[in-house]
Amino acid sequence: MNRKKFLGLLGLGGLATLSRNSFAANAPQTEDFTYSGGKAIVISTWYHGLAANDAAWAILKKGGRSLDAVEKGVMVSESDPTNLTVGLGGLPDRDGNVTLDACIMDEKGRAGSVAFLQHIENPIAVARLVMDKTPHVMLVGDGALRFALENGFKKINLLTDESKRRWEEWKKTSKYETPVNIENHDTIGMLAIDSSGNISGACTTSGMAFKMHGRVGDSPIIGAGLFVDNEVGGAVATGVGELVMRTCGSFLVVENMRRGMSPEKACKAAVDRIVAKHPSVADTQVGFLALRKDGKYGGYSIHDGFDYALTYEGHHAMVKTAHSK
Ligand code: ASP
Repeated sequence: MNRKKFLGLLGLGGLATLSRNSFAANAPQTEDFTYSGGKAIVISTWYHGLAANDAAWAILKKGGRSLDAVEKGVMVSESDPTNLTVGLGGLPDRDGNVTLDACIMDEKGRAGSVAFLQHIENPIAVARLVMDKTPHVMLVGDGALRFALENGFKKINLLTDESKRRWEEWKKTSKYETPVNIENHDTIGMLAIDSSGNISGACTTSGMAFKMHGRVGDSPIIGAGLFVDNEVGGAVATGVGELVMRTCGSFLVVENMRRGMSPEKACKAAVDRIVAKHPSVADTQVGFLALRKDGKYGGYSIHDGFDYALTYEGHHAMVKTAHSK
């Protein structure tokens, strides 16, 4: 089943159209760029990454910190009610609750994370506060919500009319199973290097559409959805979180780069590991994106269709990744 057909079944045809039309006319393939490093750069997953990169770039180009850039960048996707896979307007779980996962990591190896958080528009900002203000890395559920409210975040209804309509439609036609398939999940993962050469990353999602209540994916798990090591680089993941968690995906990509692989090869090796260990994944998608300390970047996915937004001085466009199937 191709992306468009599957999204059509879920009622996500609009998103499919967006992604299909998202490439610059002659978008180069991964690693064809001549970016030579030593300058600020930001990359992020999927087409919604372009708008998020804009916000991140506004900070980076003024010499701002990569941590601020990735936080403010992904907040654009979180706050966009038309984005059905992140933050406000995200598709709910099978019981109609929008539950959000997010994490952030900086160049010092500090990390903050929230999972199964409800009613808060910008979980990434809560994750940042967990990192900055608590001795912990991760808060979940009611504890994360209480922490957010105590720190001035407003409780809102995240279920928009549109995401509610799609949930009600899904209930009519679908079995009570999580639809694990090629493209029903478009997390935003972002990596940035600032003009001081420091790298940070952020990852935020409403998770798999119509998941079981309480399900948490890879996106808020340090080492799965995101990992940053300022000596080496960073990686983010998107796709079926269960597969990414079982392989510590983003950590694996960074460790592959540490051993000398290029960003694209590091992502490919992680995808190959997933495919080898879980041959039943023929119909599921996972994509990795990596940014090395020297500014080289790359991505790789199981199936065709994974693309990412790339922004640096004088450049702002989508890149399509290579894939294994
Ligand atoms: N990785 C996310 C999850 O499993 C889904 C996504 O990439 O959109 O929750």
